[in-house]
Amino acid sequence: MAPGVVCVQLTIALPGLGHVNCYVMEDERGLTLVDPGLPGRKPWQELVARLHRAGMDIHRVHTVIVTHSHPDHFGAAGHIRRLTGAEVVTHEHFKTFFDPNEEDDEDKELATPGELDSWAAAKERLHKARAWLHGAAGERGRDVAEGVGNQLRQWQRWNGPTPWGGEHPRPPRKMQLTYAVNQLTGGTYFRPPRPSARVVDGQVMHLGGREWVAVHTPGHTVDHLCLLDPAAGTFISGDHVLPTITPHISGLVRAPDPLKLYFDSLERMVSLEDIRTVLPAHGLPFANLAERARDIQAHHDERLELLRTAAADLGEATVEEFSQRLFKPASWGPMADSETYAHLEHLALLGQAVRRDVPGQPVRYRLNG
Ligand SMILES: [Zn+2]
Ligand SMILES: [Zn+2]
Repeated sequence: MAPGVVCVQLTIALPGLGHVNCYVMEDERGLTLVDPGLPGRKPWQELVARLHRAGMDIHRVHTVIVTHSHPDHFGAAGHIRRLTGAEVVTHEHFKTFFDPNEEDDEDKELATPGELDSWAAAKERLHKARAWLHGAAGERGRDVAEGVGNQLRQWQRWNGPTPWGGEHPRPPRKMQLTYAVNQLTGGTYFRPPRPSARVVDGQVMHLGGREWVAVHTPGHTVDHLCLLDPAAGTFISGDHVLPTITPHISGLVRAPDPLKLYFDSLERMVSLEDIRTVLPAHGLPFANLAERARDIQAHHDERLELLRTAAADLGEATVEEFSQRLFKPASWGPMADSETYAHLEHLALLGQAVRRDVPGQPVRYRLNG
């Protein structure tokens, strides 16, 4: 693919995506994998087999780099660490959808009274179970108790309202169930990884006999990390810049203006010099990083313009109403709403839209004509 980099394409079945590219580098210590695919037994078997066919042994993996906290990227990272003791490297802000969230634990004002009741009851049951497990089952019990706690917090998060008063995007039900079962039983393949090394922007890593620079590119997620080999002009772009699709920009992140973060991260692509090969997580390698970044920026500028046009006849409207002007009916739903929310908040922070919060009702936005 590029000097010192091999690509192992792994099958995934997510809406609109059929594969993820796992990039492999080899040095005298062994292998480094970037984004080792989806979690689960089948993806694991495929990863092992694909590496084997390329003459590489999974047991030689000493480092796994995870570009960001989505399951099709962190996938097997935790399992590889348990198998080989490999270093799991992420950006310092790495946090998965399935991770416990201390803040949400206390985040009660977001829940409606009905949900609060069941949450409180569930929590009490959890505390009892935890106390029993701690006493009865030692370390294994603590693992299970922790799993139950994580799952309860996760469900609470999916059930609560979103910041715009709509429904939460959720992982497919089958994935939720698999995670739930695996959290409860301490299942092997599905536990999201705990990073063993968290890096920051500009940090240099010696991998595959080359120097790779960590490039923090928040936007698609706040923890998104790209990798740059300046000597060869190779750029591993994760989901930040993809050749044919634009990454989802979620409004549900711990940042006031995720779209602005993304624009700034795109702008940085334009300033990177002498890039010869861009290796994306989905799709084929390409060369014109700056041009592709500008195209994606233009795409979002068009979306913002579309919102202004919609506002001309909608007047003050909810996120969902704007969303249905921005997206085709096939895409309507919480994911589209979340992205629309990110765009509306961006305009609000620019002073081009006014947000109105009415208790018990969805948030409404009016765009300045
Ligand atoms: Zn992603
Ligand atoms: Zn992806």
